[in-house]
Amino acid sequence: MSTTFDCCACGACCCLGFDVLLTEAETERFEADPRLGKLTWLYRNSGGLTARFLRKDEPTGQCIALAGRLGAVRCTIYSERPNLCRVFEVGSPDCLEARAKTGLGP
Ligand code: SF4
Ligand code: SF4
Repeated sequence: MSTTFDCCACGACCCLGFDVLLTEAETERFEADPRLGKLTWLYRNSGGLTARFLRKDEPTGQCIALAGRLGAVRCTIYSERPNLCRVFEVGSPDCLEARAKTGLGP
C-alpha cells in the first residue's frame, strides 16, 4: 500500500537543500525566460563543462522557488518545475526520509 501526504502541508524535500539539476532541454527553457533563469545558477568546471541548477535560499538552503515555510508551502513554479522534482514520488522511501529528517515524521 502506498502512502500519500499533502505536499503543501510538508515541503521537506524542497527544504533539505537537494541539488536540482536541470536537463539540457530544461536549461534551454529556463535560460530563455528571465523569470525562470534568475532561479538558477550555472556551474562550470575547469574543463569548461557546464550544468545549470536551481538556486537555494540563503541561509535556509531551501529551494529558491519555494514559498512558505516547512509545513505550509507552495512551489511557485509548479507547472514549470524540473523533471527531478516531478519524479520525486510522494510516499517513496526518499520522501519518508526527507520527512523524518525535517521532523515531520513518517
Ligand atoms: S517530502 Fe514527500 S510529502 Fe513532503 S513535499 Fe516532498 S514528496 Fe511531498
Ligand atoms: S522547483 Fe518547486 S518542487 Fe522543485 S524543489 Fe523547488 S520548490 Fe520544490
